[in-house]
Amino acid sequence: MTQVAPPALRWRAVVPASLLVLFYALPWMRWDGRQALLFDLPARRFDLFGLTLWPQDVGVLFGAVAVLTCTLVLLTTLAGRVWCGYACPQTLWSGLFRWIERSAARRLRPPALASLVKHLAWAGIALWTGITFVGLFSPIQPLVAGVWTARWSGWETFWVLFYATAAWANAGFLREQVCIDLCPYARVAPLLCDADTPQICYDACRAEPRGHRERGQGSVRQRGRGLLDPTSASDYAFRAAHPALAGPPPRFAADRLGDCLDCGACVQACPMQLDVRAGPQPDCIACGACVDACDAQMRAWQFPTGLVKLASENAVKGRPRRWLRPRALAALLSLIALLGVGLHSL
Ligand code: SF4
Ligand code: SF4
Repeated sequence: MTQVAPPALRWRAVVPASLLVLFYALPWMRWDGRQALLFDLPARRFDLFGLTLWPQDVGVLFGAVAVLTCTLVLLTTLAGRVWCGYACPQTLWSGLFRWIERSAARRLRPPALASLVKHLAWAGIALWTGITFVGLFSPIQPLVAGVWTARWSGWETFWVLFYATAAWANAGFLREQVCIDLCPYARVAPLLCDADTPQICYDACRAEPRGHRERGQGSVRQRGRGLLDPTSASDYAFRAAHPALAGPPPRFAADRLGDCLDCGACVQACPMQLDVRAGPQPDCIACGACVDACDAQMRAWQFPTGLVKLASENAVKGRPRRWLRPRALAALLSLIALLGVGLHSL
């Protein structure tokens, strides 16, 4: 039987898929008869959709990088790690390679055939990624024609193979280790967030105490159990997350259980191998995979969704939202100042 992804899963895949399509299409776009985006280093000429930059315009490029950096800081403070979850190249290609891996394993037998198809697909995508990237620095049409005529220059050959190897290794093997061990933004992002920044969180008041149960028990609301007070809820969550410290968790009668089925679906879905029930964690890339996995379980048991959800710390604790936020204001004022300087110097 064909498995149909739940609506949220399909929606979440739209942004990464669109960005991948945009990347592969970029070097093929034309503007006034020329390649629309071309960093032609030998000619010292940068074409940006009709705007031509020469070496003396390098300040524009530095300004654009500064504006993008401030925009990312502001976005992180206001919306959390959406860059990590939806737009970072590491996330996009890891997701694509993982999807190929799972699709091949699910559809092809024997496993050796699935592995062969997976590696061929990974190699093809990695090579095309290298060609596409180099196609932003060397005209794409002759570059692609060179695949068949073997007429690449030495530097074209080096960089195509370099980026193909990087894509293959990072997306096929290193994956989220890059986020954990190598990415500088991952180190800085938690510092840019405050108590009003949305993050993925677990509704312990509704979910705890967690536990397996027979089908037929309703949700806490359907049973009239209601929500736990925040102190008891965090105590249960802490005990479950740290059995070595707190000892084995007590067993509860089914009518006292919260809505967490302790099914582990959220943990299995997490690319960072995190348990969202242990509280906010700096390695969380806000991809929402645990939200989708838990919502699917809630729907299957006819419980309300949203046991794992995107919400700020203040919203979870019922505190009012603050509008004067130092990090957001600093980023916004820097962005306005940069744009003002840029417009003034035009
Ligand atoms: S806990 Fe894991 S699955 Fe959930 S949003 Fe964070 S990284 Fe994604
Ligand atoms: S997927 Fe939901 S119900 Fe299952 S363990 Fe995670 S939080 Fe609990």
